[in-house]
Amino acid sequence: MGNPKAFISILRNEAGYRPVSERIGDYSEVEQTLNPEDRKLQASRCMDCGIPFCHWACPTANRQPEWQDLAYRGKWKEAYESLESTDDFPEFTGRVCPAPCEKACVLKLTNDSPVTIRENECSIAERAFAEGFVVPRIPKYRSGKKVAVIGSGPAGMAAANQLNRKGHEVTLFEKNETIGGLLRFGIPDFKLNKKVIDRRLEIMETEGVQFKTGVHVGKDISGKEIMNQYDAVCLAIGAEQPRDLPIPGRDLKGVYFALEFLSQQNRVIAGQTFDADTRIDAKGKHVLVIGGGDTGSDCVGTSVRHGAASITQIEIMPMPPAHHNPATPWPAYPMVLKTSSSHEEGCTRRWSLETKQFIGKDGVLTEVELEEVKWEKDAEGRMQLVRTGKKEMMKVDLVFLAMGFVHPVQEGLLAELGVAADARKNVQINGRYQTSIDKVFAAGDAHLGASLVVRAINSGRKAAEGIDKFLKK
Ligand SMILES: Cc1cc2nc3c(=O)[nH]c(=O)nc-3n(C[C@H](O)[C@H](O)[C@H](O)COP(=O)(O)OP(=O)(O)OC[C@H]3O[C@@H](n4cnc5c(N)ncnc54)[C@H](O)[C@@H]3O)c2cc1C
Ligand code: SF4
Repeated sequence: MGNPKAFISILRNEAGYRPVSERIGDYSEVEQTLNPEDRKLQASRCMDCGIPFCHWACPTANRQPEWQDLAYRGKWKEAYESLESTDDFPEFTGRVCPAPCEKACVLKLTNDSPVTIRENECSIAERAFAEGFVVPRIPKYRSGKKVAVIGSGPAGMAAANQLNRKGHEVTLFEKNETIGGLLRFGIPDFKLNKKVIDRRLEIMETEGVQFKTGVHVGKDISGKEIMNQYDAVCLAIGAEQPRDLPIPGRDLKGVYFALEFLSQQNRVIAGQTFDADTRIDAKGKHVLVIGGGDTGSDCVGTSVRHGAASITQIEIMPMPPAHHNPATPWPAYPMVLKTSSSHEEGCTRRWSLETKQFIGKDGVLTEVELEEVKWEKDAEGRMQLVRTGKKEMMKVDLVFLAMGFVHPVQEGLLAELGVAADARKNVQINGRYQTSIDKVFAAGDAHLGASLVVRAINSGRKAAEGIDKFLKK
């Protein structure tokens, strides 16, 4: 700890977002950066607590106090090395992690101004790239073992990165045209510029990871062939089955899954074109986003940039408390009202609303019927939905279903391989990240269920450890 009094004398200073009027006109990242001197001051606020709750709360167990101190001292290379020893891609987590570490920071508890851990992390990563500290490290040893990693989101990328560094020959299969999973085709560019992914992929490719894009394993090549050709397989196929809303009118033109909208927009930014019939354009439209979470918020930000006439986001659950929620005390992740940069850009947010039916004319969506609900505790203390009978109609042109993802797609590869599923239909693994089939492992949302980038990275690292041990047996 460089400056033991900094937590008193230096205030939390967030870099903040670009002004709304400027940022809604483009898809560039909304978050700004501090200059290096201010960044060092922010890092100096870390108190190097005896029990670092930030470290406990970080799903990949980053050593925050260590790299805060190194950043404060301007030792950017060492700070990056510390960071990278537990997190393969701090340039991703530094941008998009919801930072459970900050919610567990002791300075959050005492005066609600935790260390800006996530922003400091991003600055360390960017400084490391800018200074040329992040260079390909070609493995000196090769084991002669071949591993197929299927799915190239953060879990697959982390597993491939770790396995390659351990000397195995790794092929990363991806059904989409580009590597990155939801980093590429889910998270909007205004939160994560895709050049940040490309920069990392170049390094991984030079280090020896082979990428095979446009290959849907289970369709273009069978699971059996993969099993025959490789010594081990890692399933990092995500949890791609979206939660649907099977109510009357679901098939009307104008009702889409959130990811149909978001992935198309990311592809448009990447230079792809879509004809008028397939393009989902929110310009001048009244948009309803169903689902109050982050994916819904991404639909809001994207609709704003399209120039929607109005945007409403609804949630079936009640509005959470604004600042403190006694149900989730420190150091747990607080279930409180989250207002994202997209919300600030303009949308109406409403809670405790159930969607009853979509109504249309000539097959095209025109209205939605909603009903107000209440949440009451039953005799066992469980929250129960109670319909109030208070209904309303809302004029809408576009609906985005952003109600989460239920589990990995079961049809195709999983069905062919016959790997066991858990009670939630995620891929079942043991403590070594091994599935019910000896040489098949799993990582990321495929076994966690829809989760977070940092959890996917950590899971990819753990699966790589399990595979490495298996291959050395
Ligand atoms: C819109 C949206 C925004 C999000 N924002 C955030 C955020 O801000 N912060 C955060 O921490 N998390 C966020 N998340 C969650 C996060 O993106 C995921 O938890 C994370 O990407 C999961 O990583 P993964 O590698 O397990 O799976 P994915 O990223 O889903 O990658 C799986 C990959 O496997 C490929 N695949 C599937 N089946 C096959 C097959 N048979 N053959 C070949 N390839 C296959 C898929 O095409 C996909 O590319 C967001 C999610 C969404 C949907
Ligand atoms: S990965 Fe997330 S939880 Fe971990 S240190 Fe970074 S911001 Fe915090």
